[in-house]
Parts: sequence; structure tokens; C-alpha cells
Amino acid sequence: MNSAVKSTLDSTANSTLGNPVHRRVASLAADELPSYVHDLAALREHAATVRAALPERVELYYAAKANPEAPLLTALSDAVDGYEVSSGGELAHVRAAVPDAPLAFGGPGKTPAEIAAAVDAGVHRWHVESEQELHRLAAVLAERPGAAVDVLLRVNLPVVTDALDAVPLAMGGRPTPFGLDPDRAEECVRLLTDGGPLGRQLRLRGVHAHLASGLAAAEQLAVAQQIVTWSAELAERTGFPLTEVNIGGGMAVDYDDPARRFDWTAFGEGLAELLDAHPGLVLRIEPGRALTAYCGWYATEVLDVKRSHGEDFVVVRGGTHHLRTPATRGHSQPFTVLPVDAWPHPWARPAVGSGRATLAGQLCTPKDVLARAATGAAGLRAGDRVLFAMAGAYAWNISHHEFLMHPRPGFHYLGG
Ligand SMILES: *Cc1c(COP(=O)(O)O)cnc(C)c1O
Repeated sequence: MNSAVKSTLDSTANSTLGNPVHRRVASLAADELPSYVHDLAALREHAATVRAALPERVELYYAAKANPEAPLLTALSDAVDGYEVSSGGELAHVRAAVPDAPLAFGGPGKTPAEIAAAVDAGVHRWHVESEQELHRLAAVLAERPGAAVDVLLRVNLPVVTDALDAVPLAMGGRPTPFGLDPDRAEECVRLLTDGGPLGRQLRLRGVHAHLASGLAAAEQLAVAQQIVTWSAELAERTGFPLTEVNIGGGMAVDYDDPARRFDWTAFGEGLAELLDAHPGLVLRIEPGRALTAYCGWYATEVLDVKRSHGEDFVVVRGGTHHLRTPATRGHSQPFTVLPVDAWPHPWARPAVGSGRATLAGQLCTPKDVLARAATGAAGLRAGDRVLFAMAGAYAWNISHHEFLMHPRPGFHYLGG
């Protein structure tokens, strides 16, 4: 475990009462665990800081798929300009949670029914992923003669950066099912521009490119620069007025070092420079993980501690069917121990005897590991509580809840 988490751990006993998340977890009965706890006040503060770091001509959308829980969507509403949704389900859910917010509709494989629902919902921006999708959208609009929509072409751009090879989730700059191939972009522009067969009801505003998740600020800026340059050249060549470029999300979150945060200040300064070179252009970003990851915790209790072939294992209530993030990314989820001194049983209390332990859940699979060989687990006992941090994004909503049919966690929202 890194030193930042270790020091949190060491100070836990003293800070428990002063920390609202710790206090809430300490107040829950054992059978109310596991529980997710979200700190909405911290989320609002973080989002406001992000917003403040961005120049005026950058719009901030929240990618709802990172965590679509309604209290989070509402808490973000002061700081964001809109929400990015990627399915008919997200569209209906986000619309209900934040009724007046502008929505951008993206994602591959939009069905005709989803397209019709999104047209009728009046989404603000369409991120069109293929030539066929343009035709599908136009066909829906043809049945609604007065309607028109604003379109960005999502393009899988050939950006040049080593960083794309290193990130956990590359979605572009290589063969993927996302977006248009760059060599189809000119044809799509031709379909959409004035006089083009689809141009009457589809207004081309610009380009969208979400290429990877996990880029630091300098890498994001290098990618943004290339996306904007490529888009401006396309507009120049084909003669359409480029007014917007969406450079996607994917701002890095470091699970191994929670204190190392994406440098929003440097990112905002870099975007301001980029905008200086492109007067009249509006940039949009749509982060998910980097907005909400830090405001969520998964709190649970140690059920058992055992030694197996020379290694210590801690079994907690719950597991990766609630918090799949560490399993999908292959990391150890950072955690803090909340010691519980009471031990009401007549038998000996099992405890971690070595300096480290693997924290596993209740599932009957060796993949159900939340943290592997963690030194922060030294001394952990049955009955102690464990608070997994950075569980506010791609956590509960990406998990396989039904596997083994354990009860669902509780959900608690602080500072609402
Ligand atoms: C997932 C996704 C995002 C958000 O990515 P994060 O890594 O959570 O910031 C933004 N845009 C698109 C198109 C996405 O698919």
C-alpha cells in the first residue's frame, strides 16, 4: 500500500469522529453493511473546483455511465453544463433526475426506438457513431417534419501518443467499434452540409472524439490539440463551419495513489491556449470517473480472517458483486480500517498475524478480491470495519449484483 493510504490508516482511530463518512459507517449496525456512502457535499465542492479551472468556452458535461445515481446527478447540476447519456435507459433516467439539463446522446449501437425517444426528448447534441446511424436518425426525423437536431460526428482519430498504449481503456486511435473511421468523415460531412441529402434536419456542429480513459493532463492536452487540429482541417477541406469540438472524458484517476489527482488547473490553462488559437470555437469535455470516483465509499465488516498456505486472507461482507472496480481494472482498492474493539463472542478473535493480507468478498470465486496482499490489513480482526475509498465511479453500477444472490448494499448520501 502506498504511503498516503497508510497514513490515513494510521490516523483513522483519531479522526473517526471528525470525519462524516467514518461517523456514518460507525453508526450503522452490522447487518446494514455493506453500504455505499456518498459524500455529496464533497462532490459539489470537487465539481465546483473543476468548473472553476476551466476557461469560459469549455463546457463541462458529466458522463452519466460513471455513476448515474440520482442524488449525484442532482449534486452535480450547479457545476456542469449538461450530461452525456449513452442509452435509452440513461436518457430516461437522467431526464427524470435533472429535468431541464441539456443532454448529449452518444454510444455505439443506438436502436431505432432509442433514437426516436431521444429525438422526442429533445436532446441537445447527438454524437453520431456511424454513417448508418446518420441515416437512421434522418429516417426518424423524416417522420417529424418540423424537427431538427444538432450533430457531432464521433471520429476514431489516429492520434499520436504513446500514452494511448499505456492506458487501461483505449477506445480510439486503433481498431475499435467506436466512432467513424477518419476516412469516412468527409462523406458524412457531405451528407450533412447544406444541400446534402440529410442536411435539412441534421445540423452538423462539429466533431466528437473520446479516445481513452486514464490520461493525465499533459497527455489529454496533447490529444485535444490533435483532435482540434484534425477537426479544423476537416472543416476547412469540406467547407462546413466548425463551431464545437467535444474532446471526450477519460481524465486519469490513480487508484494506487489517491492523493495524486488530475491536474485540472494545468488542463484548464492548456485548453485556454488551445482556444486562443481557435476563436469562436466551443470545446466540450465529458468526464465521468474523475468527477465522482472520490466521493464514494464502500463500507463493510470483516467476517473472517484465516491463514491459507502461508498467506493471510480477510473475508468481508459483500465483495466484487457490489464493487467490481478492482476486479475489472486489476488493482487493489484503497481502504481504511475502522477498528471495532468490542468482541462479544466466547471464542478467540481471528486476526491478521502477518504484515499483510488479501481482502476477499463472499463470492465462491478466486476473482472476488478487493485488495491483494495489502500491508494496510496488518492487525485486521474479525468484526473490524473496512472502508474502501474511490468507490464513487464504475462501482455498484458495473457490478454483477445477482451472482450468488447475496443481499444488496445500503445506500447513504451525506451532505445532500
Ligand atoms: C465512458 C465515456 C466517457 C467518460 O469516461 P471517463 O473515463 O469516466 O471520464 C466520456 N465519453 C464517452 C463517449 C465515454 O464512452
